[in-house]
Amino acid sequence: MNQLISIRQIKKAHLPSNSRLRRIDTIRTPGLMNCKPAIFLDRDGVLIDDVGYLSRIDQIKLLDRVPESILLLQQHFYIIIVTNQSGIARSFFNEQDLLNVHTALINKLNAHGAIIDYIYFCPHFEGSTDPQYSITCNCRKPLPGMLLKAREEWGISMNKSFLIGDMMRDVTAGESAGVKSFLINNSSNNRSTHSVMQSYNLWDVSQQIISIHRKSNYTDSKIADTDNSNA
Ligand SMILES: [Mg+2]
Ligand SMILES: [Zn+2]
Repeated sequence: MNQLISIRQIKKAHLPSNSRLRRIDTIRTPGLMNCKPAIFLDRDGVLIDDVGYLSRIDQIKLLDRVPESILLLQQHFYIIIVTNQSGIARSFFNEQDLLNVHTALINKLNAHGAIIDYIYFCPHFEGSTDPQYSITCNCRKPLPGMLLKAREEWGISMNKSFLIGDMMRDVTAGESAGVKSFLINNSSNNRSTHSVMQSYNLWDVSQQIISIHRKSNYTDSKIADTDNSNA
């Protein structure tokens, strides 16, 4: 369990070597569509301290009870991070720095047995001096592009999935993609007047999600830990 996890970059996404996701062939196996629920997690302020444009491995600090929350959720859901990383467009760090940070994060979690199946990141920001990143994209939250891509690429069933974020833009992205969304209402954002499911930390949200999931009529088979064969 504690072997070192590596990450492959695929366009604007990171695939950890211990991911349990498999590409779907919806034409040959239509039944596989809509049977894969996921938890979409914002990164900063949900999994780790939000230090603002985090760029170095030594800045990564896991928040309270994060590994055990993921351990609980991963039994029933694929775990997918969706993170805005406009620090790339702003030239605060580059895609290699982000890959290094995510490799370190995934290995920290893996030391506890916690799995991240995929990471989508949005490197864009309108007004960047770098033309490749200065675009009006559909992936920067509050837009739902990263979640919609997960549905398309992996066959994630949105109506059985959940998003957990610490900003209203996360919740907006989730709701726009048809995913039930939770706001972690920490000290930096106690301002939502929106009728959204709120909680104070990831552990509390995770227990609520498991309870909702159990009450649904949806019968799931537990997601098995498997070696990665996407390579
Ligand atoms: Mg955040
Ligand atoms: Zn984007």
